[in-house]
Amino acid sequence: MSYQALGTTPLERLQDRLNREARVCPACRYEDTENGWQAVTSGSRVQYRHICPSCGEISKRELRLGSRS
Ligand SMILES: [Zn+2]
Repeated sequence: MSYQALGTTPLERLQDRLNREARVCPACRYEDTENGWQAVTSGSRVQYRHICPSCGEISKRELRLGSRS
């Protein structure tokens, strides 16, 4: 398996990582295999939100765009 083709931008890398690692609810350990993360874009930021269908726990991740150093 090669991961090199995946995630060419920071955004894609984050998405890829979320989809692989962050599907298990930290509160109740429910593994959500159906609903992915919802992306909310606002200006230079992208916020990802995932609501656990089992207990309603909200997980968030945030990515800042355009801050390449
Ligand atoms: Zn949960």
